[in-house]
Amino acid sequence: MAYDPDNIFARILKGEIPCKKVHEDEYALAFEDIAPAAPVHVLVIPKGNYSSFNDFATQAPADQVKGFFASVQAVAAKLGLPEKGYRLITNHGADASQTVHHFHVHILGGRSLGGLVAHE
Ligand code: 5GP
Repeated sequence: MAYDPDNIFARILKGEIPCKKVHEDEYALAFEDIAPAAPVHVLVIPKGNYSSFNDFATQAPADQVKGFFASVQAVAAKLGLPEKGYRLITNHGADASQTVHHFHVHILGGRSLGGLVAHE
């Protein structure tokens, strides 16, 4: 999917829409999800224009990929999650119900998260 520069997370990155910022560095911005699915629910987004994990993994330079995932770990540590555990989720495409087409990783924690996937 072509990257839409006006998607909601692009606008958050540009400062056009407010967010509850948790962390920012050279590679990533992290902020609270507007509709939390767990006591801790933070989104981490890269600063480049990548529409999904697939796009990021195939198009981003290696230093950006490494820097981004180091940022995800740093955010989880900042939130105090590593000791009890946390879950990372990234949705790519329609079957995964991706709704915002700027690559993002969900960090979920703060309670026992149960099984991996909700069954219909
Ligand atoms: P996806 O379904 O694409 O993996 O996840 C998108 C996430 O973005 C959802 O969990 C949704 O609650 C969150 N979200 C959508 N719009 C906004 C917004 O304007 N601000 C914030 N902080 N989160 C948003």
